[in-house]
Amino acid sequence: MLTLGIEGTAHTLGVGIVDDECRVLANRSAMHRPATGGIHPREAANHHAQTIHAILREAIGEAGIKLKDVDLVAFSQGPGLGPCLRTVATAARALSLSLEVPLMGVNHCVAHLEIGRKVTQCDDPVLLYLSGGNTQVISYANGRYRVFGETLDIGLGNLLDKFGREVGFSFPSGPEVEGLARNGSELLPLPYTVKGMDVAFSGILTAALHLHRGGRRLEDLCFSIQEVTFAMVTEVAERAMAHLDKDQILLGGGVACNRRLRDMVGQMAEERGARMFAPSPDLCVDNGAMIAWTGSLMFESGLRMAIEESGVRQNLRTDAAEVPWFAAAEVEA
Ligand code: AMP
Ligand code: MG
Repeated sequence: MLTLGIEGTAHTLGVGIVDDECRVLANRSAMHRPATGGIHPREAANHHAQTIHAILREAIGEAGIKLKDVDLVAFSQGPGLGPCLRTVATAARALSLSLEVPLMGVNHCVAHLEIGRKVTQCDDPVLLYLSGGNTQVISYANGRYRVFGETLDIGLGNLLDKFGREVGFSFPSGPEVEGLARNGSELLPLPYTVKGMDVAFSGILTAALHLHRGGRRLEDLCFSIQEVTFAMVTEVAERAMAHLDKDQILLGGGVACNRRLRDMVGQMAEERGARMFAPSPDLCVDNGAMIAWTGSLMFESGLRMAIEESGVRQNLRTDAAEVPWFAAAEVEA
């Protein structure tokens, strides 16, 4: 069975094609990069509408298949930016109808978890999901993937991008922050904001920009932002592992490409006799293959979606999704 998945919750439009063993036959994407300022949802949606045809063609070419070989069309149903979601859902519905194959709307956060579980071969991890828009600690409990901690304001990637924008980095700023941080040495005072199992980042942005105006070195600022924010999310992830009694930690989202984050989380895992897992960068960032794979899992476990049920859900929660394939594996084990 071949599943074509379309991702389009935010700035990235992705088309992936996977088979039922999760062999990734194609994984193509294009990213909307605003000329100035942050992401405007309507502009990002226009980008997706303008590029989907080309990206779809590229993916089909890379997979070496024909469109009519596709057995299932999956798309990111939420959470995300409304105009982006609607553009991608419209394309997915049109494809499903014209190819006369079923359609499956996929929860974007669950897709990060499922692709990571499959390609890294972990089975029941705590997922530390760190992207531009999302920052969540997710794990399976009582029949669903549940959120055990999350950001109270902006996503961690968004903090890096906003800081980068103010100090003149290109978008997205994560890689440049990481590069400069390697030459930083002084840990500057930034607010370490963990509230119970939740975190907050906007105070760090304000403080870092204040220090920047005060003439602090960018290297030290990037270093300090990384040390403080990565320690915050590592703390929450560790507490989730301890309370849930889980010995696997999985990384997902664009920020999970960061070496320093991987080192810090890896050390935490090692110290508690647990293991860290992280997919390759192309499967960490938003991508179509993860949507295709999760759609395939949903379909194989008997879930079906009528066109009328395929409306987008901007605020779709991680624990809204049924995950019968996970429960089935649990019963077997
Ligand atoms: P996503 O939303 O999952 O596609 O991830 C995009 C986010 O990941 C953006 O906010 C980037 O700044 C961030 N990002 C990408 N690479 C890195 C990196 N090496 N270190 C930190 N953040 C990164
Ligand atoms: Mg994402």
